[in-house]
Amino acid sequence: MHAHQTSNLSADLPLAGADFCGDCETPLTAYWSKGRNNHHPYYLRPKRGCESCGKSIRRNVIEEEFEQLLHTMQPFATLFKAARELFKDLWDHRLASSATVPSVIAAYETRIKALEDRKIVLAVKIIRTGRPVRSFDDTVRTTIEFLASPWQL
Ligand SMILES: [Zn+2]
Repeated sequence: MHAHQTSNLSADLPLAGADFCGDCETPLTAYWSKGRNNHHPYYLRPKRGCESCGKSIRRNVIEEEFEQLLHTMQPFATLFKAARELFKDLWDHRLASSATVPSVIAAYETRIKALEDRKIVLAVKIIRTGRPVRSFDDTVRTTIEFLASPWQL
């Protein structure tokens, strides 16, 4: 077995650097092992002196384990609802309390003016490129969907 790096290693072996040894927390590395007829992808826990390390794991074995882990990572709907309400309360509270201070109002007015200018610049850019830009809502929705079910994405 000979470890070597290729430029598209991260695309073929996406868990390299993203998964860790449970015992010593060393990041996984990846390599292609040259067999008789083919190259086979492996992950490796590289640290010497750690009992769990130094063993190679076939790519499909560890990626199936990772996929199963993602399947189990689904927060309860009630937890999401509570987090969302908490966030909204905080947001409303911030708006209500900050708006009573004149200097804060002035600061916000300046900021709003700057944002309006920026909005015009961006609107012109959108027209020029002819491409729709993802809205804030879409972006937030994608994030929440990812948190709700990482495996699906
Ligand atoms: Zn280890």
